[in-house]
Amino acid sequence: MDISVIVPLFNEEESLPELHAWIRRVMQENGFSYEVIFVNDGSTDGSWQVIEGLQREYPEVKGIKFRRNYGKSPALFCGFEKAQGDVVITMDADLQDSPDEIPELRRMIVEDGYDLVSGYKMNRRQGDPLSKTIPTKLFNATARMVSGIHNLHDFNCGLKAYRRDVVKNIEVYGEMHRYIPYLAKNAGFSKIGEKPVHHQARKFGKSKFMGWNRFVNGYLDLLSLWFLDSFGLKPMHVFGFIGTLMFMLGFIAAAVVGGNKIYCLAAGIPARLVTESPYFYLSLTMMILGTQLFVAGFLGELISRNSAERNRYQIEKEI
Ligand code: UDP
Ligand code: MG
Repeated sequence: MDISVIVPLFNEEESLPELHAWIRRVMQENGFSYEVIFVNDGSTDGSWQVIEGLQREYPEVKGIKFRRNYGKSPALFCGFEKAQGDVVITMDADLQDSPDEIPELRRMIVEDGYDLVSGYKMNRRQGDPLSKTIPTKLFNATARMVSGIHNLHDFNCGLKAYRRDVVKNIEVYGEMHRYIPYLAKNAGFSKIGEKPVHHQARKFGKSKFMGWNRFVNGYLDLLSLWFLDSFGLKPMHVFGFIGTLMFMLGFIAAAVVGGNKIYCLAAGIPARLVTESPYFYLSLTMMILGTQLFVAGFLGELISRNSAERNRYQIEKEI
């Protein structure tokens, strides 16, 4: 099978028939063998009936129905598990992403050798509220910096293409769909590209992601990924090192304060109380924080030692 198209959806009944017809037309024009996997993320409208109707008529349509709404990432995860195509395309259900982009996205994977190609909504539709475009810019700038994938302008675009290996070897969870390129990079898939895609206004219904809290959560997710990437495998090396360093500095500072006092006492020079010196408190704080960091590293090490994932590595080939 050439292509699997995965469509996560939540209450999108009006768009589905049109989306399916469009995908089908593109696939037939190009002669691809394909499947379309609709993942119904606990819709409360008639989306599932529509999918069942399509499935009866077209055998290439597949569906997964969640009992409740879990979110876009879980929907993508289950779609990825089911996908069989050599190239996997994800797209939103709201007709904002154009299926006409599929042939070129596939070509970039198959011929240019990309592991992942992300869409880039270059001419964002007018009428997007500023409260969405400005944070989006900020978000992408931060994501580029933290992830080290400098050539992506639009991490969160729903339209993406993957080599099958990629989707079978990454685990999208929580709200991590925003950072799939970063997940892929951490798993060792480094050839990540971008293609400017046509993008239009939502035709039916309204956006399922509104409000500011998604940016707070988005940044926290980015931080977790960064932590996992940088020292998830060896927490003691980082926390233990900083902790030891802080403790030593604090200890030396305390020794200097104490030594000074003893010297003054011995030499009969009048000196102020140790507890009156600010350095005394600084050194105490350093020693306490240092010990805590060290313990944090040790706990992290104990936890990762017990994790079932501790020896899961990305193996590309065995012969
Ligand atoms: N979606 C989903 N589960 C959710 C929220 C959204 O599967 O809990 C789907 C939604 O139906 C759409 C895609 O994710 O197909 C992108 O959502 P939306 O278009 O609302 O996001 P926006 O384009 O406004 O960022
Ligand atoms: Mg949308």
